[in-house]
Amino acid sequence: MIVGMRTGASQAEIDAVVQKVKTFGWNAQVSTGTDKTVVAILGSNTGQVSTDIFAVLPGVENVTRIMKPYKLASREVKPKDTVVSINGVEVGGKRVVIMAGPCAVESEEQLTEAARVVKDAGAVILRGGAFKPRTSPFSFQGLQGEGVELLIKVKKQFDLPVVTEVVDVEDLELVSRAADILQVGSRNMQNFSLLTAIGKKHGDNSWLPRPVVLKRGFACTVTEWLTAADYLLAEGNNQVILCERGIRTFEDSTRFMVDIGAIPVIEKVSHLPVIVDPSHAAGHYSLVPAIARAAIAAGADGLLIEVHPNPKEALVDGLQSLTPSDFARLMVELRKIARAIGRDI
Ligand code: PEP
Ligand code: MN
Repeated sequence: MIVGMRTGASQAEIDAVVQKVKTFGWNAQVSTGTDKTVVAILGSNTGQVSTDIFAVLPGVENVTRIMKPYKLASREVKPKDTVVSINGVEVGGKRVVIMAGPCAVESEEQLTEAARVVKDAGAVILRGGAFKPRTSPFSFQGLQGEGVELLIKVKKQFDLPVVTEVVDVEDLELVSRAADILQVGSRNMQNFSLLTAIGKKHGDNSWLPRPVVLKRGFACTVTEWLTAADYLLAEGNNQVILCERGIRTFEDSTRFMVDIGAIPVIEKVSHLPVIVDPSHAAGHYSLVPAIARAAIAAGADGLLIEVHPNPKEALVDGLQSLTPSDFARLMVELRKIARAIGRDI
């Protein structure tokens, strides 16, 4: 941490900062410039103390952290890539993993048909929400318990692992019965009690931590996203997959703006795999293929794509859902791009 003193700060004010540093058992290095003095705080656990402790002292102009707030998600702590394994499907390895299916589980026929078409086209994980976090309380909230039962049935039938969202700690045990991967939605990225519950091992072993897809909050920075991942990692769940799904900017021609740059940033600063959801970013089926292709080209470890057997009849997100034939066509293109950068699908 670096404490910058105001121009003209008195020696007594500087000494008071140094004294405060010492109360934590840390060392202070004072650099006196022509106009300003800065105090560098040297200690291994400065991250545990709020910058406010120093910012409130008289004569202090600003306090800057040098260390990133996230630790366990960083490459400094774990230089080697994390590969998340789901029943033999590896996310974060050479193979690009395609997860696809409807936004929401709507009926047995819809889910069965969706599973069939996505598997035929080469997807290896089935998506589908039984619990839906909806902006309006009057919108369809998902089939909930009945949706969980349908996911269990269909995943057995097609031998496809399932990624499905958990919205509330209360539903964790129920959703875990169907989920091979638990999805934490964008709106819940900073729901710290949910993250902690998902990270924890439970004593009676009735359900254990599952791999997690942690979607980026649409108003959150990469640093906040990785710090949220630390909640899962700190509890002992290291099977974390990050998912970029678009952030909110001033641009409104797409539903959200996919942050392609976040993919190489994550690759640089974190060992965790990162996938992209082009569907929620695009908001329109016609824009999904280009964003999906760009994501693979930029180095994403996988995609989470909405595919509906009949998007015109979809109860949720029909406009951004691909038809089975559009999805099959996209998969052909994605294979070519993956191959061009030395990966497979
Ligand atoms: C979803 O994937 O079904 C979803 C609701 O996405 P997000 O949390 O990214 O809006
Ligand atoms: Mn959706």
